[in-house]
Amino acid sequence: MQVFTSVVVFGIVFGVFIITDVNSYKQRKVNSMISIARVIGANSVSSIQFQDPEAAREMLEELHSVTPEIIHAAITNRDGQLFASYSKPGEKAIKIPTLLKRKAFAFKDLQLFVSNPIMSNKEIIGNVYLEVQLSELQQIKQYKYELAFILLFVALIFSFLIAMVVQSYISNRLLKLVNSMKKVGKTGEYTKPLEEDGKDEIATLIQAFNHLMEQIQESQRKKDEFIGIASHELKTPLTSIKGYIEMLNLLEKEQPKKQFVQKALGNVNKLERLVKDLLDVSKIQSGQLQLNMEEFNIDELLDETISAAQSLSGSHQIVREDHLDGEIVYGDRQRIEQVLLNLLSNAIKYSPGEKKVEVNSEKTEKELIIKIRDYGIGVPAEEQTNIFERFYRTKDISIHISGFGLGLYICRDIINRHYGKIWVESAGKGSIFYFSLPLKHSLTSQQTEALNP
Ligand code: ADP
Repeated sequence: MQVFTSVVVFGIVFGVFIITDVNSYKQRKVNSMISIARVIGANSVSSIQFQDPEAAREMLEELHSVTPEIIHAAITNRDGQLFASYSKPGEKAIKIPTLLKRKAFAFKDLQLFVSNPIMSNKEIIGNVYLEVQLSELQQIKQYKYELAFILLFVALIFSFLIAMVVQSYISNRLLKLVNSMKKVGKTGEYTKPLEEDGKDEIATLIQAFNHLMEQIQESQRKKDEFIGIASHELKTPLTSIKGYIEMLNLLEKEQPKKQFVQKALGNVNKLERLVKDLLDVSKIQSGQLQLNMEEFNIDELLDETISAAQSLSGSHQIVREDHLDGEIVYGDRQRIEQVLLNLLSNAIKYSPGEKKVEVNSEKTEKELIIKIRDYGIGVPAEEQTNIFERFYRTKDISIHISGFGLGLYICRDIINRHYGKIWVESAGKGSIFYFSLPLKHSLTSQQTEALNP
């Protein structure tokens, strides 16, 4: 657009410049030829009065050396009859032009025709006609066209180069902005404002985006605050309700009352798990999730957790496929158990109709990898990183299977704090969730220090 506009503007400017130049050349020619016609007229008064056409013709012939561009010249008497004439050698005989009529001059092709009356005692006694060849005009036009074309071409290249520089400057900044937006959308890092660079529209856009991030941050802060307060306030009454229901469950022997109490207990347990998760999220957000580091036998923990998860599921069989030779791990036993339980309960929850969940463990030089495999609905590739985000649930399951999207977020935080990794592999049927824990000897001194503040 910029190049096109420049071409149009330059085209118009050069067009006006050529027309003005040609017109001023023509005007100059008209003025000088009229002056010559006047001089001829003044000098031929006596020749007309004394009927001496020879003297007039001699005078006209002088034109050949003075102004060679005059190709025909003629003097007529008061009746309009030819009195004397001159034609440049090689030109045909003169014909008084009809196109002049009453005009003092006229142009035709590359020729100028001039007519000027011969006056004596305020009386017209004849007329002078000049026919001028404007061969220079053609050259001037040609030269101006060439010059305009070259200038237009140079201007075009310049405007193209400038457009390229401006364009790349604008699009680079826009692309940078879009990439930053994508990154923020992906990582959810609303705390880092984008750098503003200038005062133009793009800088205004960056400002607006930063303002939007501030607003999101603020609303997230309010949400976190609410989650923290609400889960804290719910915890105490819930613990007391659970205590009473457990007591009732022990005391009540009569059916169906006992059945109702057990159902209530089941739901209170669910509620308790949710409140615990919310409390954990709130602790993670405020950086208060503490680890109680100890050395423990991961084999034992795996067996214990599998049987705990197994006792809650009548539909699936959790199979442990190998053992680790009583491997000792350095970590927070309770939190690692929480991760294992969450992954096992997810494996069962998201594989309805299936019967098997497999647990594998592997030890490398530096780390221990635990693998939990199910044959359920799987996780679409494009959502495999998102499911570790807070409140994220895959699109197609969120309506069929209940959940809050908090478990994996908490798992990731626990594992990250142990300097391990958690990830999922899923292609087609089923998914495999992995998590790794570094072995104590492979932790750096800084990491060990951070784990034992
Ligand atoms: P919740 O299960 O309460 O929704 P999680 O944080 O444990 O929360 O899981 C987040 C999301 O990850 C789930 O909503 C589900 O979409 C997906 N997901 C987790 N585990 C599995 C699994 N084993 N198979 C398929 N999808 C899973």
